[in-house]
Amino acid sequence: MKTILIVEDDTSIMRGLQDVLEKEHYTVLTASTGTRGLALGRNEHVDLIILDLGLPDINGEDVCKELRGAGLSTPIIMLTSKGMEMDKVLGLEMGADDYMTKPFGIRELLARIRALLRRKGGMVKDLEECTFGEVQVDFTRQETKRKGKPVKLSVREYAVLKFLVQHEGEVVTRDMLLNQVWGYDTFPTTRTVDNYILALRKKLEEDTANPQHIMTVHTAGYKFSK
Ligand code: CA
Repeated sequence: MKTILIVEDDTSIMRGLQDVLEKEHYTVLTASTGTRGLALGRNEHVDLIILDLGLPDINGEDVCKELRGAGLSTPIIMLTSKGMEMDKVLGLEMGADDYMTKPFGIRELLARIRALLRRKGGMVKDLEECTFGEVQVDFTRQETKRKGKPVKLSVREYAVLKFLVQHEGEVVTRDMLLNQVWGYDTFPTTRTVDNYILALRKKLEEDTANPQHIMTVHTAGYKFSK
């Protein structure tokens, strides 16, 4: 049985979440302050953390940073309010694995919890770096070099690239990328995926028209090769 820690100061959201998660057979730990959340996150065995950004004492951002700073790679889903920048939440600065904007749908949250639990250990420790052709990628620092020169990738471009590299030699469909990288709350089209692939090729491939690493598999999707 998996244990989920909810850190949330709004009692009605907390109770609602706890009910649903317990019905789904998760063990639930709760904290209504950042301090308590930190203590439980550090000292208890927890498989996933749902963390509210706005807490009365230490805010969710700092709780997240402290847990990551302490080496914890437990997946964290941040509950944010509208207007928060997704790149900031998922970026290295904060280190959450996913986020949901309030008010959120419970089915969507459950789907994301399952996805993160499947991806054991979260995103932080799995793939740290990779080298292909004249490209060196450090996923931990989010730094990339091509022919020794720095190349700037966005957080989402890193996520797309990482997923491709993790499935090296396999066909990755656009739907797989949409589910893994975009999740369920936005409605990008498969065309969006193609645009990201194009951007990655422009930044990383010698010849964009004749890619050697991020290849198209006709009618199926993409395939990464070193
Ligand atoms: Ca709150």
